[in-house]
Amino acid sequence: MKPTDLYDKAFACGLNILAKRVKQTETEIYCPYSLTGVAAAVTAALGAEAPQCAAPPAEPLQKLIEAEPVDRVVLYNPDAIALWLFEKYTADFLPVMTNARLTLPLQSVMPCVTPVCFATMFTGALPEVHGLKAYRKPVIKTDTVFDALLRAGKKCAIVSVENASMSKIFLERNMDYFFFETTEEVLAKAADLIRQDEYDLLCVYDPDYDDAMHHCGPEGEGAMAALRRNAAAYADLAQVIRETKNGRRTLLGFAPDHGCHEIDGGGGSHGLMMPEDMNIIHFYTVI
Ligand SMILES: [Zn+2]
Repeated sequence: MKPTDLYDKAFACGLNILAKRVKQTETEIYCPYSLTGVAAAVTAALGAEAPQCAAPPAEPLQKLIEAEPVDRVVLYNPDAIALWLFEKYTADFLPVMTNARLTLPLQSVMPCVTPVCFATMFTGALPEVHGLKAYRKPVIKTDTVFDALLRAGKKCAIVSVENASMSKIFLERNMDYFFFETTEEVLAKAADLIRQDEYDLLCVYDPDYDDAMHHCGPEGEGAMAALRRNAAAYADLAQVIRETKNGRRTLLGFAPDHGCHEIDGGGGSHGLMMPEDMNIIHFYTVI
């Protein structure tokens, strides 16, 4: 065989691989609704104007709120819960499904890393608009759900573990922040705050699944245990809301930021334009 034949063979092989990848990309499915549609729905739920750069509300969520007016919003934000986790481990989501009137698949934004995605969730804007386009945790200056609600005279709070994106990028607002070392403390405080009924919007950030899946992979034992704890935590919040309603009608959401995928070596990651990372699932109900 001549060297040119070898070259031709290698070239043909390369072309073949490229053609396969193009075909794969063409058949990849991305959720049509965007994470940008959450912010305006949340402010609308509380009778406030949308954040200044927010996309229109996601229609299914808007319809739920129109049918079931609310006067309080509690958003449970578990990190990195992908749509494919719901598809593959549906039974583990039972505590969420039985506390949800709306199942809302959403497409996250690129780069799909925590601060960028939460900045989008709470501004309703794409990264090129809110300006956070990489894994950094500056205070977001773009108008957020929190700013819009504060202007409307509403009270907001974030409960989070320390040093997380959710405990940094929305600072410097006239609202309350409760940061703790452990997720257990975060969830206990969230339950207390719901009982005390002082806030119109309460955001509760839970890092456990993301932390675990980076170490042991999205389907590792520790990650699956964290996923089941996430589902239970959401159901527990629903129960606290139910037990302490006092005439309030609360929109409760299970609202992750991005998905995840397995990487070589058994760990997990996210941040790529691929369905596993970009497609997420939100659940909402009115209690
Ligand atoms: Zn995240």
